[in-house]
Amino acid sequence: MSQTVCILGVTGSIGQSTLKILEQHPDQYSVFAVTAYSRIDELVQICKQFSPKVVVVPSQKVDELKQKLNAQKLNHIEILADEAGLVAVAEHSSVDVVMAAIVGAAGLMPTLAAVKAGKRVLLANKEALVMSGDIMMQTAREFNALLLPVDSEHNAIFQSLPQNYLQTERNGKPKQGVSQILLTASGGPFLNHTIEQLEAVTPEQACKHPNWSMGQKISVDSATLMNKGLELIEACHLFAIEEQFVTVVIHPQSIIHSLVQYVDGSTLAQMGNPDMCTPIAHALAWPERIQTHVPPLNLFVNNQLNFQEPDTSRFPALNLARQAMKVGGLAPTILNAANEIAVAAFLKNKIKFTEIHQIVDRTLNSIANAPAESIETILQIDQKARIVAEQFVIGH
Ligand code: NAD
Ligand code: MG
Repeated sequence: MSQTVCILGVTGSIGQSTLKILEQHPDQYSVFAVTAYSRIDELVQICKQFSPKVVVVPSQKVDELKQKLNAQKLNHIEILADEAGLVAVAEHSSVDVVMAAIVGAAGLMPTLAAVKAGKRVLLANKEALVMSGDIMMQTAREFNALLLPVDSEHNAIFQSLPQNYLQTERNGKPKQGVSQILLTASGGPFLNHTIEQLEAVTPEQACKHPNWSMGQKISVDSATLMNKGLELIEACHLFAIEEQFVTVVIHPQSIIHSLVQYVDGSTLAQMGNPDMCTPIAHALAWPERIQTHVPPLNLFVNNQLNFQEPDTSRFPALNLARQAMKVGGLAPTILNAANEIAVAAFLKNKIKFTEIHQIVDRTLNSIANAPAESIETILQIDQKARIVAEQFVIGH
């Protein structure tokens, strides 16, 4: 039976990789809805090739999209707008699978809507889970959603865990013989930079990742190691494990995508060439396997695998995230919001690279933590943290 797919954030790096997989398997998947925030010309090309039933864009882009779809004789495609449109396609009764690939907090409500509608949700949008943690996981259980990790590390961990690991009790302790999760990190483009060198790096340099080609925001996060911090929080929620059982390992080649250690001394790893098509295909077809164009790993070529401890004095973002997870409540939401603001400011050359973690730290220290009781509380604190972080950007 063919599955219908909704791709939130289709014009992004993950969205594009998802289309690559779908076009290889036209009998198994059809595209029901796609969403984009900008890049309307690319969106129209996607509509031409994949004939979705519904497209979602911001309201200020609707007229432009309508004209361009008309010009291509694609006027049968329904256009929806803004967050209401995103939520509508994410929870649509005709959709089986939702790829959550919007970047940042903008993806929270549509991802949550997909989870509430009990979909198979392929989670790339880690910020949504970092912000809403327990609520997202609780909602997935309540509404029987299948929340599958697309982030390469979490997908690797998922593949290396015992088969029914996620279905059994969740209490923060490793179980079923698992003792520890090893979360790998490439270390980003500035792995060996001194603090002085880090102060002078440009957005262009930060966006040039040595192994992965990704959107701008996650590229900067990879360079600060905040990406690994967000992923640490993501892992704690997805696998119901306390932060003390997750160790970050720098592995510059990005061939081992993460590992799980067991009490008997075994360590299981998932390996492969660094291409997001592999975790996307895995999450899409799980528990089956489907073909991708990703070439098999050649260990005679990739014959150097190195590992080292992260240096949190040069990359303090990792500790900020670990601390936020430890204290819990709204701290991860504040961390994420402040980071989004600081990264955007760095990309616009308003602050230095090394000021990103400082702004996150100051924002965390300026807002009183409280329990994350509801989505409304989370959205409120997200807004508040953005305002506070903006003040630090202006006053830096
Ligand atoms: P990207 O910047 O390339 O794409 C982001 C997508 O989200 C685009 O389609 C854009 O139109 C849409 N978008 C942006 N702002 C929006 C808004 N306010 N409202 C609605 N839509 C909006 O990002 P990406 O690299 O594809 O990453 C997407 C998500 O996947 C991120 O959360 C990232 O952390 C995660 N992720 C990415 C990779 C990767 O290799 N790129 C790997 C793991 C996880
Ligand atoms: Mg990752």
